[in-house]
Amino acid sequence: TPIERIRNFSIIAHIDHGKSTLADRLIQVTGALSAREMTSQVLDSMELEKERGITIKAQTVRLSYTAKDGLTYELNLMDTPGHVDFAYEVSRSLAACEGSLLVVDASQGVEAQTLANVYQAIDANHEIVPILNKIDLPAAEPERVKQQIEDVIGLDTSDAVEISAKTGLNIEGVLEALVTRLPAPKGNANAPLKALLVDSWYDQYLGVVILVRIKDGRLKRGQKIRMMSTGAVHAVEQVGVFTPKMLPMDDLGPGEIGFITAAIKTVADCNVGDTITDDRTPAAEALPGFKPSIPVVWCGLYPIDADDFEKLRDSLAKLRLNDASFHYEPETSAALGFGFRCGFLGLLHLEIIQERLSREFDLDLIATAPSVVYHVFKTNGEMQELHNPVDMPDGSVIDHIEEPWIKATIMVPDDYLGSVLSLCTERRGQQVDLTYVGNRAMVVYRIPLNEIVFDFYDRLKSVSRGYASFDYTLDGYAESDLVRISILVNGDLVDALSFIAHRAAAETRGRQICGRLKDLIPKQLFKIAIQAAIGSRVVARETISALSKDVTAKCYGGDITRKRKLLEKQKEGKKRMRQFGKVEIPQSAFLAALKMD
Ligand code: GDP
Ligand code: MG
Repeated sequence: TPIERIRNFSIIAHIDHGKSTLADRLIQVTGALSAREMTSQVLDSMELEKERGITIKAQTVRLSYTAKDGLTYELNLMDTPGHVDFAYEVSRSLAACEGSLLVVDASQGVEAQTLANVYQAIDANHEIVPILNKIDLPAAEPERVKQQIEDVIGLDTSDAVEISAKTGLNIEGVLEALVTRLPAPKGNANAPLKALLVDSWYDQYLGVVILVRIKDGRLKRGQKIRMMSTGAVHAVEQVGVFTPKMLPMDDLGPGEIGFITAAIKTVADCNVGDTITDDRTPAAEALPGFKPSIPVVWCGLYPIDADDFEKLRDSLAKLRLNDASFHYEPETSAALGFGFRCGFLGLLHLEIIQERLSREFDLDLIATAPSVVYHVFKTNGEMQELHNPVDMPDGSVIDHIEEPWIKATIMVPDDYLGSVLSLCTERRGQQVDLTYVGNRAMVVYRIPLNEIVFDFYDRLKSVSRGYASFDYTLDGYAESDLVRISILVNGDLVDALSFIAHRAAAETRGRQICGRLKDLIPKQLFKIAIQAAIGSRVVARETISALSKDVTAKCYGGDITRKRKLLEKQKEGKKRMRQFGKVEIPQSAFLAALKMD
């Protein structure tokens, strides 16, 4: 395709405003898949994404569209995730495109992530086409929502496209807008190859697959390519595009988005944001890369079965290839043995990685209490970045501790404003701003990150009956009165359950966790004491009473098969437990114990 007839675009939206439905509809209308191949939400291909109904990995698809001007255009759609935890993936996808479709639910209006995403698109110099979706709904108010987009974002909506992605109404209007309103990419086919490494993942059959956006030059089968950041050289084996099926091609030219494979075995060779060039005639300088992502939540991941350590290491390397925003490093725990300290963009991100490890790699894991990154300033003038509460130095060498803060933007209907404000206050929030957009309040708060990582999002949804939307950006560090709470089970310190909290809330949290653990740890043949301590001072205590009889006793020695079944079941249960001194703690206790309510 000549470069003037290529259009590269993303779809950005607040969650549930219809991004995936529109993407599916575009694929269907342009005939990229037959009706039989068209399963619902084609782009959300990961099993996990389907179950949770969210888009995690950015996906891409090439569409062919013959426009009203009679010419056939190549449209490259990059899907982006909508949840706040995945803003990093959004920024990468945007860097590979020239324009965005901004989808807004006409019955809901502008939400917190509409704003966050549109600001990212503006930063990426995108041409933005507003799309009002769900106009089939009786509650749709396209005129009011257009006015809102103009007032809040400042985008001209006189050419906004009104559609129903669900019924398929006016999808052609979207395709025409793409062709007539988005700019074609720019690039020089005769210059040395410069391709942006947008994404990469591990495929069981093909090995490492790399998603590229060609800026200059051509990328062909058999070509020797060089990764500019590492100097690694590879021979290209396959070149192709997603339709969304993988379709092999001879080459890719300027402006195009596609994939390559090159028998790459070392995952470390594929840094997202890197520039790929030709080995014999390399480009003089690399493309501007991506800002590195900064993990904000860390936790330890340990195999339940110590023999799985190597498998875990291998699986983490593959996941990291698939998700550059995920970080990890080896660590050891007195209680849990060898494992990894892992960094995430948020709690949802953590949960998803953990679930992928168990589903795709068949690993049984224990996750320790998630922690944000604290800055510990010592009396000797040093600053220590604390990723793990266990590493907190002795109080006598600490001058002060700083914790990370965020600036949260919350949009909520007036009726629920009161409960949202009290939730923010409860979480040590400081109000920065309160304005109105129609009958919706837009509140800006500064809140310590520690207060939101566990369950803020869930709580916000429940106090607002699902009507509040939320987005945040990191907003520096500030000094705080923080203490470490240690948990002792039967007198033994369980390092994996230590956590850091504000002094004012520490005792309450300690009591809460002891209470939870009491319910979560099964009774054993002896009494078990559960204690929470700040330094050497015990602030809470619970006791689990001893199990009265042998479990098999209730079978009255009669039914031998029943007895065996019971023992089997016990063994099964054991697999998900870890031994701490004499006590076994089930894996579920770790995360559950630490959720606040
Ligand atoms: P995403 O989170 O932005 O990807 O949103 P989805 O595409 O998953 O859509 C969220 C929900 O809205 C789904 O239940 C869709 O069926 C529904 N939906 C999407 N577009 C429309 C539309 O035009 N009209 C109506 N009535 N529902 C829609
Ligand atoms: Mg979606």
